[in-house]
Amino acid sequence: MKNAITDRLFEFLDASPSPFHAAAALRERLLAAGCEELFENEVWALSPGKRYFVTRNGSSVLAFAVPEEFCGVQLIAAHSDSPTFRVKHGAEIRKENRYTKLNVERYGGMLPESWMDRPLSLAGRVVLRTADGVEAKLFHADRDLLIIPRLAPHLTRGTEPQKPNPQVDLLPLFGDETADLYGYLAEALGAAKEDVLSADLTLCVRQKAAYLGPKDEFICAPRFDDLQCAFSAVEALLAAQNPKKLLVAAVFDNEEVGSTTKQGANGTFLEDTLDRVREALGVSREAFLRGLADSFMLSADNAHAVHPNYAEKYDETNRTYLNGGVVIKYSANQSYTTDAVTAAVFSEICRRAGVPVQVFHNRSDIPGGGTLGNISNTHLSMPSVDIGVPQLAMHASVETAGAADTAHTVDAMTTFFNADIRKTESGFRF
Ligand code: ZN
Repeated sequence: MKNAITDRLFEFLDASPSPFHAAAALRERLLAAGCEELFENEVWALSPGKRYFVTRNGSSVLAFAVPEEFCGVQLIAAHSDSPTFRVKHGAEIRKENRYTKLNVERYGGMLPESWMDRPLSLAGRVVLRTADGVEAKLFHADRDLLIIPRLAPHLTRGTEPQKPNPQVDLLPLFGDETADLYGYLAEALGAAKEDVLSADLTLCVRQKAAYLGPKDEFICAPRFDDLQCAFSAVEALLAAQNPKKLLVAAVFDNEEVGSTTKQGANGTFLEDTLDRVREALGVSREAFLRGLADSFMLSADNAHAVHPNYAEKYDETNRTYLNGGVVIKYSANQSYTTDAVTAAVFSEICRRAGVPVQVFHNRSDIPGGGTLGNISNTHLSMPSVDIGVPQLAMHASVETAGAADTAHTVDAMTTFFNADIRKTESGFRF
């Protein structure tokens, strides 16, 4: 079941050990496809029929296709961040005159054991002093560099297994007693150590994306949640044509920690950008709001497939599987945006695309998680459906998914972008 779109997803995942790298890889993809980069502190001149993108904080990306005539927005939202460990400032902790550990804190709701006893590296951005200011540089060590070693079972006999304590059990070993993080960064970046001022660095696992199973039917990699949806949304934007709708692929940072940052879905990045697009196209505020009523969003974040070892953890009637197609997610308490009408619209779009659809509900005694749709709806409200790619081990350092589902997702998203979805009295036509 190896296929070209999954091979390209693998390249993207391997190139994206941090949200900064994910945004940079998307930027390269968009530039290579002929999209024009816009900057928030410059004037925007936009032409109908062209594609553009803008980044914020170097970790969130909004890519869009300008229509011939503005009749609304069709948006796909995904996120660029994943649970990891963030390196603190002044990170070195010396132990026994033999070791240097790095002081780290958790980012997001991870499965900490999945980070232990495996080679790790460092990725993110490093800020250097320049002649007249400071400059952030992308950094990825791209080598086996650290490890979080567990305590041997011989030394824990007679004690109850405990949840790992992040200040005790989860600090990575960096080197011998002389190891010096900023010295290492300076050397790697060809800078003087005193010019390394600060860094946003996180740990990353060294696992490359790979196929699994006798027929290569499964895939494993770090960060499927949510780079698989981010990748698919951008691929769909590049493949789509829609002369009536402003098409947007939005990839936001900081979903795993609540989205309330300047570059997060609960910040102003999306509304600022769309307001500027509206101004640049000479669309009145009234015409824009009219268009919003004919708009539609896919909130795209990965979904839980039934786990072969824990099949009892899933809903009795709504069960999703790897390679079973795109997942529509429902929640009565509205942690997902899906309603009967928006779900029906998306199912029909998938049927037209020839893509299978599955439905996810949590078991009624399991609360489950939330995602981007509701958050961005507080800034720009439109009919929306929560969807995702089915996967196992969400928030583990290495996750598992199906080899067929990326193509399903790109096809469904492309068909969504190509459809001109209009509100009717009691439904939609498209
Ligand atoms: Zn997610």
